[in-house]
Amino acid sequence: MEKVFIAADLGGTNLRMAAVDSAGNILSRDRRATPSQGNQADIIDAIVGGVEDFQRELTGDYEFGGFGAAMPAIVNSHSGVILRSPNLPQLNDLEFSKVFAERLGLPVILENDANAAAVGERWKGASQGVLNSIHVTLGTGVGGGIIIDGTLIRGIDGTAGEIGHIAVEPEGHPCGCGSRGCVEQYSSATAMIRLAKELMPKYPETQLRSGSELTPLEMFEAGVKGDRLSLEVFRLAATYLGIALGGLVNVLNPEAIVIGGGVSAGWDLLIEPLRSEILRRAFPHPGERVKLMRSELGDDAGILGAAFLASGRIRP
Ligand SMILES: [Zn+2]
Repeated sequence: MEKVFIAADLGGTNLRMAAVDSAGNILSRDRRATPSQGNQADIIDAIVGGVEDFQRELTGDYEFGGFGAAMPAIVNSHSGVILRSPNLPQLNDLEFSKVFAERLGLPVILENDANAAAVGERWKGASQGVLNSIHVTLGTGVGGGIIIDGTLIRGIDGTAGEIGHIAVEPEGHPCGCGSRGCVEQYSSATAMIRLAKELMPKYPETQLRSGSELTPLEMFEAGVKGDRLSLEVFRLAATYLGIALGGLVNVLNPEAIVIGGGVSAGWDLLIEPLRSEILRRAFPHPGERVKLMRSELGDDAGILGAAFLASGRIRP
């Protein structure tokens, strides 16, 4: 019997799931809308429905070994409790692992999505074989995951790795976490769009239009063509991220920093200002040593990491 693990990436909009074997091959996928307007039971039922579909589909030589979920939330990954879920607040305080272990009859792990992505990239992606790495997900927010000596750093309550909430401006833009000036308020997709709108009056010649729904990809495309506003937004986002990462490079001396998420589509505009800010902030040796890598797994990083953790293994 081949062991198979079911993994879920529980976002505010989409519930993406996959059945993954012990070697990290994705055997089957599922994507459905997260019932975000529903109550806790609706969301639980949607996830259970997805798992049961895989169990019906993959019969025969497969034995289901566990269920792993990754979500953009502060979770206690030791106890499997959701502490604070900004996108799906109806799940706050849910004893996720306990509830799903009872419903599914499988071992369950719950992890923050960026922590899971760090594990996924180390298992099957950019940082394979790298013992010490920092993973940053630049999307709607800024997620982080830290791997030291091959092991994901979880902290006493399993909430560790929140790189996005390192303050880089003492009295900066207010953050959803309750602090101000967090790197998430400058380097996430949401923040870059806000920065573009704030700076637009200074760049009347910009190709970006204030009325349209801006995306980092549009800004990247305009920046490549020389749009000064777009270039300035990428420079600011990269500089603030570099302040946070430069400090982390001094603290952790990582071999690699892996960058994923939607904003990483703008890699070519991001990477030079990011590298130079890290070099400006970090000690020369660890600053020059650290490799900046682009995520290889994209949206699958969190799913694969959750599947790996669901297998009960600790070190990819
Ligand atoms: Zn914050």
